[in-house]
Amino acid sequence: MNWLTKVLRFGEKIKKVIKERPTKEEILQSSWVSCCAGPILKKEIFNDETQHVCPKCNKHYPLSPKQRFDYFFGKDNYTIVETPKVYDDPLNWPNGVYKKKLAAARKLTGQHCSVLVAQGIKDGIGITTFAIDSRFIGGSINVSSGEAITKACQIAIDSNNPLIAWSEGGGQSMFESNLSLHMMTKTVLAVNTLKSNKLPFINCYVNKCYGGISASFAGISDIAFAEESSMIGFAGQHIVKNQTREVLPEDFQTAESLLKTGFVDAVYHRKEINEKIMNILKILLHKHDASSEVNDELTNETSENNQSSRAIAS
Ligand SMILES: [Zn+2]
Repeated sequence: MNWLTKVLRFGEKIKKVIKERPTKEEILQSSWVSCCAGPILKKEIFNDETQHVCPKCNKHYPLSPKQRFDYFFGKDNYTIVETPKVYDDPLNWPNGVYKKKLAAARKLTGQHCSVLVAQGIKDGIGITTFAIDSRFIGGSINVSSGEAITKACQIAIDSNNPLIAWSEGGGQSMFESNLSLHMMTKTVLAVNTLKSNKLPFINCYVNKCYGGISASFAGISDIAFAEESSMIGFAGQHIVKNQTREVLPEDFQTAESLLKTGFVDAVYHRKEINEKIMNILKILLHKHDASSEVNDELTNETSENNQSSRAIAS
């Protein structure tokens, strides 16, 4: 066997291995998912009982905005709000590369942009909320997403509602360059307008929240909650590690470590975060029944923010 035959045979082996790897569709259609203890049946994690949290390792899997609203308001017990649809692909990327990505993301999520806005009533309190879908081009904020967040602030003001955000995603859209960066300013201004109307803004960090999202509207909430096992930062771990050339702590950018530094007010399991939000909203809006139990831990953890937020809400 000469060297050429060896190379060709090796090439055939590589081809065979590559061919045998499952496609994205096959992974999606599989009944199994790889988690802490190796393969685990999807139905054991992705159901309403567990709320998409692994019962063995407590990993909180991402939720779509509609699943999030279902768990918060009750199944379909809310109204999806129409948001402005702005011009796609303003920078006119060659070969329609961005338009193709948008089309694929819209087909996958059923949304026009990464942000979905909803309104509903929970415990007698009208609430406006929005959530980011990380399946929509990494949950990136483009002009449409920024306009959706601005609209959420506007209808919260019009309806005299508190606003709740479920923030995740990689930051501003690179495909819309400085136009999406402008959305950082616009969403901050929109949230500040909400605050000047004395309405509370609660942000919940979920999944992985980075870049312009944590550096704009999400970072200026009255109350900052986080779901367990969520990650929060500006630049990702690899970038920070390469730039600083430091050994980063194991819990770097985890919600639990940011609780210690005061960046978030409280970290909760997915199954309890909705109740905690309502507890704090009832206090902020002076709708709390004195006879009902208030979670002492919550009030202690957030007492500092309560002082300032009560002043806003009163
Ligand atoms: Zn697991």
